[in-house]
Amino acid sequence: MHQCTPEITIIGGGLVGLSVALGLLKAGQRVCVLDGADGDARASQGNFGLIWGQGKGADFAPYANWTFDALAAWPTFAQQLRELSGIDVALDQPGGYEFFTDPTEMDSFKAELVQQASHLGNHACYEMLSGDDLRNQMTGIGSDVVGASFSPRDGHVNPSAFSAPCAVRFRR
Ligand SMILES: Cc1cc2nc3c(=O)[nH]c(=O)nc-3n(C[C@H](O)[C@H](O)[C@H](O)COP(=O)(O)OP(=O)(O)OC[C@H]3O[C@@H](n4cnc5c(N)ncnc54)[C@H](O)[C@@H]3O)c2cc1C
Repeated sequence: MHQCTPEITIIGGGLVGLSVALGLLKAGQRVCVLDGADGDARASQGNFGLIWGQGKGADFAPYANWTFDALAAWPTFAQQLRELSGIDVALDQPGGYEFFTDPTEMDSFKAELVQQASHLGNHACYEMLSGDDLRNQMTGIGSDVVGASFSPRDGHVNPSAFSAPCAVRFRR
């Protein structure tokens, strides 16, 4: 096996650690990532592949814009990952619904979306649907559902793509 001395060691191989590692590798650094045990609690694992922008950065404009840029960057990023690793993360951005059974919660989330939209300007894109709208559009929506928000940019990747035993090494 090829051995090399890392210039930079990153502790933690979650979403943040691996993203930083990939950026450093692309910048020509030698990088080593030390991660915890398989059973450790990980935010990246809990997220389970969501690529979700609705409401993000409602109270902080740079976060709203950063999230918008990240959603738009995913297709190119997924392609780069496929070329580098041979793994297809099954990116799918068909749009996403957030369902509500409590009208007060739905109103409060709508207010967040309005605030987020004020930061995003022309990029803002969401829709509020009533329970009846939803029941007319799709099957299986129960009578307790009072409505949903929908954003056409939301989606997911498939984290199970990484669950098969695999060894991936990036070298410069
Ligand atoms: C249900 C859910 C939904 C979410 N939705 C969104 C969303 O829509 N949009 C969004 O932007 N964010 C979302 N997030 C948040 C996002 O997933 C996290 O901010 C992100 O995954 C954090 O990544 P991380 O690498 O910082 O942490 P982690 O994924 O927790 O990674 C930390 C890593 O460090 C390792 N580690 C810890 N201690 C040590 C040690 N001493 N030595 C070696 N390794 C160590 C752990 O094993 C782990 O792998 C969501 C999170 C959840 C749970």
